[in-house]
Amino acid sequence: MRFTLTGNGAARGMALGRARLEQPSRYLIDERPLGALEIDAELARLYRALKLARDELAALREKLQGAFAHEVGEFIDTHSLILADRELIAGLADLVRVGRYRASAALKMQRDRLVAVFEAMDDPYLRSRKEDIDHVIGRVQAALSRESSAEERKIAARVGEILVSDTVAPSELVPLAEHGVLGVVLTSGSPLSHSAILARSLRLPMVVAAHEALAHIQDDDLILIDGEHGEIVVHPTAQDIARYRSWQRDVIQRGKRLALLRDVDTRTRDGTTINLYANAELPADVAQARACGAAGIGLYRTEFLFLQRKELPGEDEQFLAYRDLVLGMGGLPVTIRTLDLGADKADSTGLVLDDEDNPALGVRGVRLSLRHPQLLAIQLRAILRASAYGPVRVLVPMVSTSDEMAKVRSMMRECARDLRTAGHEIAENVELGAMIEVPAAAIALRGMIRKLDFIAIGTNDLVQYTLAVDRNNDHLANLYDPLHPAIMKLLSQIIATAARAGRRVTLCGEMAGDVRYTGLLLALGLTDFSMHPGLLLEVREAVNTFDRSRLLAEARELLRARSREGIQFVMEQLKAHALPPPIAHEGAGHPA
Ligand code: PEP
Ligand code: MG
Repeated sequence: MRFTLTGNGAARGMALGRARLEQPSRYLIDERPLGALEIDAELARLYRALKLARDELAALREKLQGAFAHEVGEFIDTHSLILADRELIAGLADLVRVGRYRASAALKMQRDRLVAVFEAMDDPYLRSRKEDIDHVIGRVQAALSRESSAEERKIAARVGEILVSDTVAPSELVPLAEHGVLGVVLTSGSPLSHSAILARSLRLPMVVAAHEALAHIQDDDLILIDGEHGEIVVHPTAQDIARYRSWQRDVIQRGKRLALLRDVDTRTRDGTTINLYANAELPADVAQARACGAAGIGLYRTEFLFLQRKELPGEDEQFLAYRDLVLGMGGLPVTIRTLDLGADKADSTGLVLDDEDNPALGVRGVRLSLRHPQLLAIQLRAILRASAYGPVRVLVPMVSTSDEMAKVRSMMRECARDLRTAGHEIAENVELGAMIEVPAAAIALRGMIRKLDFIAIGTNDLVQYTLAVDRNNDHLANLYDPLHPAIMKLLSQIIATAARAGRRVTLCGEMAGDVRYTGLLLALGLTDFSMHPGLLLEVREAVNTFDRSRLLAEARELLRARSREGIQFVMEQLKAHALPPPIAHEGAGHPA
């Protein structure tokens, strides 16, 4: 029967697929003993479920193609063999017939017995094979508890999988996407988490904080997820599927409309050029940044080079990655951020301390880099070497004191000197800037700014630290509010302080790519935005509708507002200063 679950949208897009539960052992086990007259029917249920599971494996095997088809095929064969094992089937039938267990309880009992045997083995490889048992039994349990119709099963056989889990680490997402996972549903998490940021880069629709998902979705259920509105439809109807198809058509239409803006300047109606940069984590982001006419890369998160691996990337490997990035942008400026590991960007390299009580307030970003000066030197050397290939700037995360920046600058000078002595060509002047994302840095910016070449505002963290609200904690999602008056004041101060000191300021948190905030940020004086490249054309479309001088005139009202509601009220006034996009309405006058 169709039902819906809700969470928060974290990565836009819809996906239709089979649910793949991270913990397939969570099946409802019916512990009531069987009556004598129920035995035959229960045995028939069990055999039907076994056959269904075998048929599904055979269908999967047939569909396999591509790079890992052989290896994955072997796994499937092993699972099919286990499912066909006579002793296993006879044991299950005995449990039902003699022990009077229902099929789900018999399966659980067999699973526990077999797993106990594997667990007692000395050989670690064999011990790990108990996972195969879990998967196989889980598949039969799913087949038993499934309520899907024949029609739904037909569709399910054709679509890929959607992961349903408690959490997912950023490092797990790339392999998931590479293995064809279509979308992700999490029972916890927030749209501001690094996993969500990466899911957006991977174009993997994601719903987070869907608290009920693991309790109500069964393995292999057909589900439709909407990563924008945070909706999950379990057992979707033909109508839902039609909605999904229509969404696919809309995406194509919207893409065509926005594509017209690729070569258009980003300029307000009264003639101010606004610079839209792209945030990048993956090579695909760079290609997309070029394709949509980004002014450059405003934030390259290097930590993604460090995830998913045991050993640290060396200087040459990093140099090649940065060089390709710079070359890929064809002469446009590229801002490379030094490592921001820590907090939710834990690694497998052992650098991040795993026993901190408060990792978000702990050894993260520049603090971690300065604890490992050799690591920072390698990264700075690699970035400096890449500067020979195009304009590069270095950005430092999680800065709270000017002393930290002084240390990084002195190390950068030393690295440049050593590289030149060794005969490397590097740019004459590589700018060094700080992320302003810790309130202390924002409040004390006047005392620091002259020592910086530029700054970038990291609103994702600035909001979290100013409001003392963990950006990943879904229970506090209502308190994580970029429209808090304190945030307005800080943003306005930061932008004004940078302007007075003649320093460029870019805003590169998620706010920059959210068109709901475009007018507000322009009103606060921002001219440089950096966002996921997939959002850039929408922001360009929004910028080009505004009259900047009229927006700036409203800034005082914004700063005077005492509440979120007050700020929203002023934002509504700002909308009045927007005109329909000029392409569609050539010659339209400004409303009186
Ligand atoms: C930020 O904090 O706004 C930011 C851009 O950095 P990250 O999301 O990587 O912490
Ligand atoms: Mg940050």
